[in-house]
This record gives sequence, C-alpha cells and structure tokens, in this order.
Amino acid sequence: MISVVPNVAAVSTAAPHAPHAPASTKPLVRLRGVDKVYANGTLAVQNLNLDIRANEFISLLGPSGCGKSTALRMIAGLGEHSRGEIDWPTARYDARGRPIREIGFVFQEPTLMPWATVFDNVYLPLMLKDIPRAEVVDRVNNTLDMVGLLAFANSHPRELSGGMKMRVSIARALVTQPKLLLMDEPFAALDEITRSKLNNDLLDIWQRAQCTVVFVTHSIYESVYLSNRIVVLAARPGRMIGELAVDTPYPRTNDFRLTPEYIAHCRAVSDMLDLAMHGAAPASTLASEHSHG
Ligand code: ADP
Repeated sequence: MISVVPNVAAVSTAAPHAPHAPASTKPLVRLRGVDKVYANGTLAVQNLNLDIRANEFISLLGPSGCGKSTALRMIAGLGEHSRGEIDWPTARYDARGRPIREIGFVFQEPTLMPWATVFDNVYLPLMLKDIPRAEVVDRVNNTLDMVGLLAFANSHPRELSGGMKMRVSIARALVTQPKLLLMDEPFAALDEITRSKLNNDLLDIWQRAQCTVVFVTHSIYESVYLSNRIVVLAARPGRMIGELAVDTPYPRTNDFRLTPEYIAHCRAVSDMLDLAMHGAAPASTLASEHSHG
C-alpha cells in the first residue's frame, strides 16, 4: 500500500518501522523548524521538521542543492543550525550538558587510510577513543564479518574493489555500534551493478546492526528499494515537501524491483518531486531517470 503525506509541517507519527524492532515512543532525533543559513547568506534548509525513530530506514531524497547534506551534517552536529531545535530525546548527556550523539557517518568517498590494513582502518574510531587494539579485536572482526570482509582483514585498500572499499567505510562507521548511521550518497560513485549489490548488502547490515539509517540519495529507485520512509525535499530554498511510507516488508530482494508495487512507489515519489519542482508530474520522469542511471 502507498501512503503519501504531502506538505508535511510535522512528521506523521504513524511512520512504519522495520520488522525487527518495536516502535519506540520517543524519537531518536527530533528536528523542529530547523533553518540553516550559511555565512554567504544561502538559505540551505528552511523549516525542516522530522522525527527519526529507532530502527527506521529513512531516505532524504531530492535534487542537488536541496539541502540533503546540510541536513545530515546538522543531525551529526557537524554544523550549527541557524533556527529551530534539534533534540535527542533519548540520549545521555555529557558533563557539559550536550547530548551524546551515538552516530556513524559514511561519506560518498570511502576515504580509507591507504597505508593501513582493512582491520586498522576499521579500528580507527576506537583508536581515537584510546581503546587498546587488543581489547577490540573481536569487535572489529565481528564488524568486518557483518560487511562480508573478514577474509580481507589484512589486505590494504589498494587490493580492494570500489564496492569493497565502501563496505570497509561502512564497517568503520558501525564499529562504535552507533544508534544512528548517517549515509551521504554513499553509492553515487559506484557502477550500477555494484550499487545494486551494495543496496542488498546494506539492508542486510542494517538488520544485523539493529540501528537507524538516514540515507541521502538523489535516486528515486534506490530510495524506494531501501527505505521504509522517504522524505522528499526541493531546492531554493531547501525544504521538505512531503514524505512517503514504503511498507513492503523486509527482507527485500531484487524481485521487489520488478513488482507493480515497487513501480507504483517510484511513480508516487517521482510525482511528488515533479509537483514540487515544476507544479506538474510529466509522465517521462521515470523513464528519464532510468536512462541516466
Ligand atoms: P545537497 O546535498 O542536497 O546537494 P547541500 O546541502 O550540499 O545540498 O547544499 C544546499 C545549498 O547550500 C546549496 O545551494 C549549496 O550551494 C549551499 N551550500 C552548501 N554548503 C555551503 C557552504 N559551506 N557555504 C555556502 N553555501 C553552501
């Protein structure tokens, strides 16, 4: 079933949840009326309202410049917002009264240390927390196992394919066992076959890690395949124009991509984007995205 919530001022409380976890009452992160104005005056994000709940897989979808990365960075605490509130209602607080954000961040580039082994690349966040290597060998190996790279623990990045490097990057983000995994167009630079395989791997990893994912993408098809909730944004200024629930149960397989349900979801997302950008929904949109990958 397709459920569409256009022009959302506050996010619906009836958002779907992954089957492996009960709905929790308090969101993990709550954004209310969030604006971001950069120093040069660019209004990158305007009036963002979003509840991110435990164990959801949310995609932020929209064209370049609609503020997806800005929103992700603000959730991560990597940039101050200019107006509104970003709360972590269930977080613990540090001695200075700041919420302890339990997050992992995956960027478009894997950005691995070329001189270090796969194991040491994944160990890095724990090393930065002064945790001795010997204490976390099992944890690093388990995380490598989760992304299917345990056999490559002693390899160096130059020995890995693009998709494998990205899986190392995902393992590095997960090794701290974060509650929230933030992913900024992680598969955009990969070929379509690798990307499709990594979509399946990511869903598997998400289920095993039992975390929440906020995934930035400009691919309608990718967002529908992965998410149980899609937040659609428009540009100039970057703003949320609606959200859609994709209630197809997990695990999802490639067969899902061939179902009328999947196509209907893609069309609904596409129509929402077109409505925001052009005030109409040209029928050619889906074909056009297909041809451009
Ligand atoms: P998206 O991730 O959707 O492509 P961004 O969040 O990167 O969008 O950017 C949103 C808007 O903010 C764009 O107009 C972009 O040019 C602008 N922007 C992003 N970062 C900065 C910055 N550091 N300084 C000024 N403007 C910025």
